[in-house]
Amino acid sequence: MAVRKKKKVAKTSSTKKKVAKKKVAKKKVAKKKVAKKKVAKKKVAKKKVTKKAVKTSSAKKKKAKKVIKKANSDKALFDTMLELTRVTSAEIPDDVQKVVLEALAREEKNTTAEYAMNIIQANIVLAKKKSQPICQDTGTIHIFVEHPVGLDQTKFRKITEKAIVKATQVGYLRQNSVDSLTGKNEGMNIGPGHPDLHFKENPKRKSVKISMMLKGGGCENVGAQYSLPNTELGAGRDLDGVRKVILDAVQKAQGKGCGPGVLGICIGGDRGSGYKYSKEQLLRMLDDTNPHPDLKKLEKDIVETSNKLGIGPMGFGGKTTLLGCKIGVLNRLPASFFVSISYMCWAYRRKGIELSNKMEIKNWIY
Ligand code: SF4
Repeated sequence: MAVRKKKKVAKTSSTKKKVAKKKVAKKKVAKKKVAKKKVAKKKVAKKKVTKKAVKTSSAKKKKAKKVIKKANSDKALFDTMLELTRVTSAEIPDDVQKVVLEALAREEKNTTAEYAMNIIQANIVLAKKKSQPICQDTGTIHIFVEHPVGLDQTKFRKITEKAIVKATQVGYLRQNSVDSLTGKNEGMNIGPGHPDLHFKENPKRKSVKISMMLKGGGCENVGAQYSLPNTELGAGRDLDGVRKVILDAVQKAQGKGCGPGVLGICIGGDRGSGYKYSKEQLLRMLDDTNPHPDLKKLEKDIVETSNKLGIGPMGFGGKTTLLGCKIGVLNRLPASFFVSISYMCWAYRRKGIELSNKMEIKNWIY
């Protein structure tokens, strides 16, 4: 019995030992698993950190690239606007040069008119050669921007203003813009309404197109706006009435607008839009053709009739009073019929460019 008991006790104790061993082994396995998990977790965490770091650095790089690209295109736009201003101030477009030379050839030899045209031509040549303003009055700066969707107009204006300031400092422009109430000249050509910038968004455009026009004060002073009917001139609300008031404006201008000049006309609109559109007519090429047959006829008639008035270059008499006439039409209210006339002098400074994606000059329009 005693032996049996002893054996039983021994058996029980060895089983217990075995169980204990198993438990220890299990614990070890569990511990190992936990350790493995920890290592795996650490690895994942490490990977995440590395990925994040890579992401952050590539985002930073991308951001830096963007900033550099932006700065480069800002600088390019500044240079572009500066160059556009220089060329506009110093050179007249080829289509204008052509009609000036034709007018010079038309004038009778050894007349004051021929002398005036020779001075004008010499002035044009010298200004281009020396890259200096064609006239001491560098005028109101009109800028027309036609652009695709997405152009930052505020930034464009800021950069353009900086370029205008620079152009004034280096002498491409005269210090020409004054406070209307005090007459004070800040010497920068910048202020309310100056430069006169116009933006037009055109979703069909792939690139930005900029036209610049410098319009002197003398010729601006002889611009005129008529409200038809005009009983004094016997001008009714028709094209004959329009013709009468245009010729009246030419007659009144005489040589004061530094003729021979070019007329930009708007029939219709209101007093504000009419004058604006009449200036936009001056962006047209002198040798283009008005698509409206009646207006095409009227443009030709106005130039021919004006040149028979004997006013001539600078009002000295002669055969050339006008170099061109461009007429556009806007809708009007039934109650009003305006004819707005903008007069451009012989120093017809208008240039246009198309920009590349980098805001550099891709090509010159005129
Ligand atoms: S009207 Fe023209 S040409 Fe005459 S001073 Fe003014 S800008 Fe010069």
